[in-house]
Amino acid sequence: MLCLGYRRWFIIDSCLCPETKKPVALSYLQGLGVDVSRDVIGILITHWHSDHIAGAYELLKVCLKAKLHCSSALMSREAMSIASLYKKDIFSNTDIEIREFSQIIKFLFETKGRDRLVLVKNRHAFFDYRQDVSTRLVALSPSDVATTQAIAKLATLKVKEGDQRIRNIVPENENLNAVALHFTFGDLSIILGADLEETGNPQTGWSAVFNSNIISELSLPVASLFKVSHHGSQTGYHDKIWQELLTDKPLSITTPYSRSHLPKPENITRLKALSSKLLVTRDPKASKKIKRDPMVERELKAIVKEKRTINDKMGHIQIRIPLDGKFDISANEHVVSYSGKSS
Ligand SMILES: [Zn+2]
Repeated sequence: MLCLGYRRWFIIDSCLCPETKKPVALSYLQGLGVDVSRDVIGILITHWHSDHIAGAYELLKVCLKAKLHCSSALMSREAMSIASLYKKDIFSNTDIEIREFSQIIKFLFETKGRDRLVLVKNRHAFFDYRQDVSTRLVALSPSDVATTQAIAKLATLKVKEGDQRIRNIVPENENLNAVALHFTFGDLSIILGADLEETGNPQTGWSAVFNSNIISELSLPVASLFKVSHHGSQTGYHDKIWQELLTDKPLSITTPYSRSHLPKPENITRLKALSSKLLVTRDPKASKKIKRDPMVERELKAIVKEKRTINDKMGHIQIRIPLDGKFDISANEHVVSYSGKSS
């Protein structure tokens, strides 16, 4: 989530708090007393995977002024048709991506909100404010080829009307279609890697970012903070990210992805060596669920509306960018910090 000053907020991706089932971004902003109906100017869904889209529908409903930005492949006829055929029980825990997307499309249709939708591919400028402090957010991906490939893949998926089991239908290679970002605030820049991966194809993934000349064409300054792509995995890594997009030894942040056990210990070792400091929003080794007595669990569910905390195990990192040029970082107790060591 980015706060841009002048009461402007921009939300990047959405996930649900496991306890309250509410979008984490919403609980956070409401906890700060932000009027989300007025002050959220945009929501970006970087790609169509449940750990990035869950809760986006609820955000869109309450953030009345926000545009919804998403990768252009997601708004293809192919993606829409999968969504429109989807009839699964909305309370089920599978197919989160499709359900969320169907709800969004239906809502935009019913509220005549089509103009709230913004399609994104590389070079897209989300905003470019030059007053006082220059504040700019630019998409580094997806490439045109990645978008075309994603649409072609969606077209091959066989979904019949009313299908009850279309689990995992959103392809794994959606990550190639993810929107990686370059954000500048005054003298400091940040790379938000989303889940963009590298496959060795020069026209997709990170290679496409470097082969397409975006960096010099848009005069993007090197960044000193990196939200590491694809949960720190090997596939999210590309030498040139560290050589061309980042300063030497940036501050790196990553989020674990339990289903694939990311980041792996060797990923952490490498990131530590490349960074001045590495922050991981949750101990990747810690078990995902907190075991509680079922009765306690029920009690918690009953009082859940009163809870203000984001989540028992959810790490939260806050970074302020003061105008004197150094990041001011605060993190809650679930965040694990590794100091970078030169090896
Ligand atoms: Zn992810």
